[in-house]
Amino acid sequence: MQFPSYVLLMIEKLTEAGFKAYTVGGCVRDTLLGREPADWDITTSALPEETIRVFGKAPFSVRVDNGIRHGTVTVILDGNASEITTFRTEGAYSDHRRPDTVTFVPNVEDDLARRDFTVNAMAASPTKDGTFTLIDPFGGRGDLREGILRCVGVPEKRLTEDALRILRGMRFAARYGFKIEGKTAVAMHECAKLLLEITPERIGDELRGILKAPHCAGIFEDFADIAEIILPGCVTNRARALLGNAISPAVRLACLLSDCTPAHAESLLLRYGFGTAEAKKIAAYLSMKDDDLARQDVLCRIADLFGEAGISEFFAFRQALSPADNKVPDAEATAAALFTPGVCYNVATLAVGGKDLTGEGFPAGPLIGQILKSLTERVIAGELPNDRDALLAAARMLKNQ
Ligand code: ATP
Ligand code: MG
Repeated sequence: MQFPSYVLLMIEKLTEAGFKAYTVGGCVRDTLLGREPADWDITTSALPEETIRVFGKAPFSVRVDNGIRHGTVTVILDGNASEITTFRTEGAYSDHRRPDTVTFVPNVEDDLARRDFTVNAMAASPTKDGTFTLIDPFGGRGDLREGILRCVGVPEKRLTEDALRILRGMRFAARYGFKIEGKTAVAMHECAKLLLEITPERIGDELRGILKAPHCAGIFEDFADIAEIILPGCVTNRARALLGNAISPAVRLACLLSDCTPAHAESLLLRYGFGTAEAKKIAAYLSMKDDDLARQDVLCRIADLFGEAGISEFFAFRQALSPADNKVPDAEATAAALFTPGVCYNVATLAVGGKDLTGEGFPAGPLIGQILKSLTERVIAGELPNDRDALLAAARMLKNQ
């Protein structure tokens, strides 16, 4: 296992000060899998104020926020941050979301027991010769080798404590292609309704994670009931079956919501903390899911709405909707034809603008917008060239009518 030097230094400092300290959780799992961890978390017997004292001097700096109530302090060395959390156990979860209390404990094994899945419940302690000692009381390493996702302890109890673990489980299984162990899977289905009590932003974060994962289609297949709970009234069998045709998260999302109305999809996405632009884009994809891509006005609308970079994603969505269909044009060729100087695909690329019309004596006001829109439509329809003189002549004719 390759430990970054800042992590080794932090662990060394804590150990020198007489505390136990280990890397823990996702970083241990990912390094055992040969993957680059997203972040390096450290767990320690030091209490938060002791951690602050150990790292109080340069070259270290300490950041403290609300997490300190749960034992977490962020320590920074040369711009690299690591979250250092005191070994802890958790009290009851009366709201199925977070523990009512946390208790700091002296043993790492007790801390590992509060973690969600066996593969996430391992700690590692680096030794000087570059090897490490693994603390693995729940058989995480074996599960990792066999590709099994299993709750630590009694699944139903663990998922009732914190229902978000259901979606975390789906995310990890979808990311690594793991099989979810039988009892864990049964509990996920049984506890799914508790997700209604989880804040939408946290659900949104997990949903975004699942959509990014390579085995996303399979997980929505196996847990269709859960998809229906988080995206009510949306996820038909037909829509879920399309997921396997899509690679990017946005196209998968549009496929998953492809039987929803655009307005319903947009409001769900906003609720789950997707950005306004993303929510509007997906709604626009859905509103254009049947538009005829052989029509120039449709292509121009796509160019106007999604821009040069967005055409290929929309086409990928359309291809995912009907993979056998060879009517989806080539995105690059379409973009090349439309995004060429002189080609008009919207009012902004029309060879005349508002100033040209006021110069011709048109009164400033809404009429100008209407005329520009009508000229744009006629250019796109091939009835007029995108040529300044021809357009001004056509505008004058409109004025005299
Ligand atoms: P990722 O690669 O997505 O960061 P991760 O496993 O590191 O995955 P984090 O959310 O960063 O996930 O959490 C770090 C560790 O904290 C987990 O590996 C797990 O041991 C523990 N953990 C996080 N959230 C929960 C939870 N809701 N219930 C129990 N343990 C949790
Ligand atoms: Mg992590």
